[in-house]
Amino acid sequence: MILFNIPLVTGKEIGYIQQAIVNKKFCGDGSFTKKCNEWLEDHIKTKKALLTTSCTHALEMAAILADVQEGDEVIMPSFTFVTTANAFVLKGAKVVFVDIRPETMNVDETKIEEAITDKTKAIIPVHYAGICCDMDVIIELAKKYNFLVIEDAAQGIMANYKGKALGSIGHIGCYSFHETKNYTCGEGGAILINDERFLERAEIIREKGTNRLRFLKGQVDKYTWVDIGSSYLPSELNAAFLYANLQMAEEVKKKRLYLWNRYYVNLEKLKLKGSVELPYIPSHCEHNAHMFYIKLKDIEERQNVIKFLKDNGIQTVFHYIPLHSSLAGKRFGRFFVERTVARLFKPAFTKIIIECLGEKCIIMSFRSC
Ligand SMILES: *Cc1c(COP(=O)(O)O)cnc(C)c1O
Repeated sequence: MILFNIPLVTGKEIGYIQQAIVNKKFCGDGSFTKKCNEWLEDHIKTKKALLTTSCTHALEMAAILADVQEGDEVIMPSFTFVTTANAFVLKGAKVVFVDIRPETMNVDETKIEEAITDKTKAIIPVHYAGICCDMDVIIELAKKYNFLVIEDAAQGIMANYKGKALGSIGHIGCYSFHETKNYTCGEGGAILINDERFLERAEIIREKGTNRLRFLKGQVDKYTWVDIGSSYLPSELNAAFLYANLQMAEEVKKKRLYLWNRYYVNLEKLKLKGSVELPYIPSHCEHNAHMFYIKLKDIEERQNVIKFLKDNGIQTVFHYIPLHSSLAGKRFGRFFVERTVARLFKPAFTKIIIECLGEKCIIMSFRSC
């Protein structure tokens, strides 16, 4: 069976974990955590990278750093994983879902401005499949209306937008090292602090609301409770595993891109016949082959193809049920066009909603490693 996902193991993991055991330092922020943080800072060009227990937790930290309060609004695509929304809903935010571009399945930057209100606190662009959103437009809007850009780059590590690493462009970026991502330690993540204003507070929130890190650095002689926070730092054993993965990042990316391109070349015939749609990579984007997906006509065809591939020894899955149509999405969010009912009746607009987010446009993806 060709599996949907095989977590990356490079061979050095056991040795590094053994070293962490010999060091007798298992809790967070030991030498392997530092190595990972430094690796990320070097490769991503961010002011500060901090490993976290997951991307979900990195997003939760971002919600605290953004000072999201009850009733604030955050803008995001509906086509994303649930925790993009949950991290902000936990702080009482209302989620405003914006439509996506059918070619990339990323937030449609031309529709964002209409969704902005005086309550907008942040926008969360999600770089689906490691293919970037149009960040220049998003950054301009954030400057004009004074809100934060928090990148959900869970799938975007080692991918670039106009030469800049995804996750390093907004005020804050979030990565995932879940086992289904390109580099992993089972469960893990990182928060990238690209704006100096958040540097000190990020370390405090991650250390249960204490200034323990400043204490360890010798900057204060006692550590104490100074802010809200939680336990967002991973164990050294996880960091040791992750460091082995990160060291192979370039080679692994090359191999993934090779496989991705092979899928593309071989499926192009079906695309030219009009049977499937294939991913589109904008010219300003260097992607990381996080996944290869095809789009099919409807649910029935999707089920048939998944079954056909399964019968032929290939496991595939499908993505996502749009959040605005989910139970919690209806409770905690709104699809922004609902504000002006008239717009719902414009045929072109209705079509896009149906195509991108409704029943018609169904994704099936299989990862390429
Ligand atoms: C995987 C993923 C997450 C969650 O990552 P965890 O590390 O599992 O918390 C969030 N957003 C997107 C877009 C993802 O793909």
